[in-house]
Amino acid sequence: MFDFNAAEDDLPSSIWQLGIYDAHCHPTDNYKRLAAALDIIHISKLTIMATRLDDQVKVHDAATQYPERIVPSFGYHPWFTHLLYTSQSPPESKYLHYRSVLLPEPPKEFLDLLPDPVSLSSFIEILTENIETHKHALVGEIGIDRSFRLPKSGKLISFEESDTDDSSSISSDVANGHNSGDTKKLSPYRVKQEHQTEVLLAQLRVAAKFRRPVSVHGVQAHGVLYEIFSQLWTGYSIPTRRQKKKEKEEQKFVKVDMEGGTAQSDNDPLPFPGRICLHSYSGPPDQIKLWTNRKLPVTVYFSFSILVNSRYGDKFKQVLRAVPDDRLLVESDFHMAGKTMQALLAEIVKFVCEVKGWEIEQGVRILGTNWRRFVYGTDDL
Ligand SMILES: [Zn+2]
Repeated sequence: MFDFNAAEDDLPSSIWQLGIYDAHCHPTDNYKRLAAALDIIHISKLTIMATRLDDQVKVHDAATQYPERIVPSFGYHPWFTHLLYTSQSPPESKYLHYRSVLLPEPPKEFLDLLPDPVSLSSFIEILTENIETHKHALVGEIGIDRSFRLPKSGKLISFEESDTDDSSSISSDVANGHNSGDTKKLSPYRVKQEHQTEVLLAQLRVAAKFRRPVSVHGVQAHGVLYEIFSQLWTGYSIPTRRQKKKEKEEQKFVKVDMEGGTAQSDNDPLPFPGRICLHSYSGPPDQIKLWTNRKLPVTVYFSFSILVNSRYGDKFKQVLRAVPDDRLLVESDFHMAGKTMQALLAEIVKFVCEVKGWEIEQGVRILGTNWRRFVYGTDDL
């Protein structure tokens, strides 16, 4: 078990200098610490996820201030999708809205606690603007979560900013709270899968339009996610070797001439993002084959964290072995930049190397190349 009270990593600085990248984290949950933490941590770049309406601007600010260290990712997490309405005009009342997106139907007392919902289309505008502003921004954290239940308090799950040092004050409960939640504090109410899907699809359209990678959250939804994505790329195939040669600079795909329609022109964006990261992947090892079939017109990466994946024991090792070497990423998934985040990343790097039978240096190089290919689409930047 990871010891949050003794969070020191033991990787030599020569290894950190090779470049270790955090593929998925949430340090804007404790925004005030970020600047000081970046001075002391050795993580080369942090891929920072936005999750809800109020942290998009924090991720934007962080990326603007520290462009060398931060790759921003903008998106709306499935845990908060009930706060969005998808209709063109606002619902007549928040009660009607929440009754239509939550299951089972909550009583009025619970709905009293929830804020007025915001329109999905207004969020998509914010997302689009951020994606246009930051040329390497990803879309995320997005996805489907079929096990998540709303907190009894009706409040969003978030972390208080505190002034104590993160290496001594974080209990593992708090640290894990972001992912597991304290079940005693949870209500029985879930967000309907169809509603989550609608919000996910709207965001995938933005990622596709701007050809950006996506960071995807999936809990008890691995089959569902595969279905959603594969429907988007049905009818598209990988380019032939000759086409590949012609269009070396960017991955482009050719639409298969299905119903006698015309082939897609090169400038039309595809209806799906070309690079996908399944973050803290907790699905079965068998499914990895589906996602990494070399005939798919997408490159799917799998990212792993100590926080989520180390709970799975032996299954985690099987999953790691099943992931092709060039599709593996590491992440902290942590909500605060600092020594703990760095130690979590060092732990997962060491664990991955051990299971894969890689020397640390070799493993760090492979993981670095994978991260650059996932984020930038190339290892040449
Ligand atoms: Zn996350």
